[in-house]
Amino acid sequence: MLLYISLNLLDLANVKYIFVTGGVTSSLGKGIISSSLAKLLQARGYSVTIQKLDPYINVDPGTLNPYEHGECYVTLDGAETDLDLGHYERFLNVPTSQANNITTGRIYQTVINKERKGDYLGKTVQVIPHITDEIKRRIKLVGSGNKFNIVITEIGGTVGDIESLPYIEAVRQLKWELGSRNCIVIHLTLVPYLSASGELKTKPTQHSVKTLLEAGIQPEILVLRTEKSLSSDIRRKVALFCNVEENAVIESVDVSTIYEVPLRMLEEKLDQIVLKKLALPASKEPPLTEWRDFLKRLKNPKHFVRIGLVGKYVELPDAYKSISESFIHSGAVNECEIDLVNIHSEDIMNENVNAILSGMKGILVAPGFGSRGIEGKILTAKYARENNIPFLGICLGMQCAVIEFARNVLHFDDADSTEFNHKTRFPVIDLMEEQKSITDMGGTMRLGGYKCVIAKNSLANKVYGKTEIVERHRHRYEFNNRFYDEFKKNGMVPSGINPESNLVEIIEIPAHKWFIGVQFHPEYSSTVVNPHPLFVNFIKACID
Ligand code: GLN
Repeated sequence: MLLYISLNLLDLANVKYIFVTGGVTSSLGKGIISSSLAKLLQARGYSVTIQKLDPYINVDPGTLNPYEHGECYVTLDGAETDLDLGHYERFLNVPTSQANNITTGRIYQTVINKERKGDYLGKTVQVIPHITDEIKRRIKLVGSGNKFNIVITEIGGTVGDIESLPYIEAVRQLKWELGSRNCIVIHLTLVPYLSASGELKTKPTQHSVKTLLEAGIQPEILVLRTEKSLSSDIRRKVALFCNVEENAVIESVDVSTIYEVPLRMLEEKLDQIVLKKLALPASKEPPLTEWRDFLKRLKNPKHFVRIGLVGKYVELPDAYKSISESFIHSGAVNECEIDLVNIHSEDIMNENVNAILSGMKGILVAPGFGSRGIEGKILTAKYARENNIPFLGICLGMQCAVIEFARNVLHFDDADSTEFNHKTRFPVIDLMEEQKSITDMGGTMRLGGYKCVIAKNSLANKVYGKTEIVERHRHRYEFNNRFYDEFKKNGMVPSGINPESNLVEIIEIPAHKWFIGVQFHPEYSSTVVNPHPLFVNFIKACID
């Protein structure tokens, strides 16, 4: 109660800003550190959000191949975003929105549109101040509206990159404008271990901080990623050479799961140091009971199942990030260790499908675009259907299950999606009417949250425990309602329908042990605190 009052007394207009930058190498896990810090601050009673600034020129990552930056994450309000936003939601259990992910492309697009409208009439439009002003506006926008006490903004890329310079300059200006009690910078670097000399090396960190200093930014806190624990000598040395207080040199040692990082950061007192620097009260240490309980279940499984994840981007684990994280959440609930076997859909053929899939207790066919690997996905759906193996098809995965059923049960010999065959006589998956005239590729799919009404007494009804849900979408093609009756009559039942458009959202096979295809993406809304019921129930069926 005391904490509640004290937080309300804080001037809510006085939002505090934390910037997280990275140095030395990319892929150090800024997203996980930001999410972990946010989790700790949230556990202490603060309302926190995280924003990601990406330095590439694409307006959003929707047009990127997953091989480039991993999965494209979709928010409830229909933004196609960086996969780090998935971590933010999974850790915080709070939805993000379009405003939480900004790219250089979007910034320039806004500025150029304004220039064409004549908003800067007579002026030369420049990186400074026009681009940096737009960056600052977008950062402050997230903090406006009295929703959050603290905004954490993660700057993509590595300090020193040409393309992140405008962001770094915007941070410098904001630090100066907002003052040191309202705005701090946390810099994440790598301390490599040289096995030849048996030493941890701090020089790259020193250089990286120097680069930040050249840009006019003194970081308040350093988080050092390392394989081995840092001695107090090393911390003292880094503190001295980087002008950072010794207790603000935080170590982040490699751990077995990303979900352990908040607890490590709590031990390192990262949250307390942040609150002190931002002149915010720190309540007593948060117990994080739910979080610890989740970790305990995750690490002490009573069951084991092997699940086949059939997709075409399997070489890059980040391409299916939300799906693999959803399995971690649902595995923990079921106290089940999940061996997720990535299977390339192009490798699956008639003659080897049994051999490849025979050890699997459950099969998931992944989302995707384009015709590469489609026949392998269709064969996979057939194998799961005929062998009574629990099956979850997501988006394209559902579409493949529909195509398979049409070809092999309904005997529609050339049944297909018009995405792969325009001339099919049985377009069981077809382009939505409103998609037919669209030529632009960026941001034009059916995106974000849509309602779905679930048929009573269906498997989906049992899974969700309700008849009305909202799930996130990202696709152009749909189940073709022309064939609705034939499917239903022959045992593949549409059990979830969008009430506004009548589009089929869920199909299932009641005669099968557990067979569900969903046109939406349940993986985007699974979190540690709220594991998605489809994944939880799927795993339960696989254990049975
Ligand atoms: N390519 C399919 C479509 O656009 C499926 C998309 C997906 O799996 N996200 O409808």
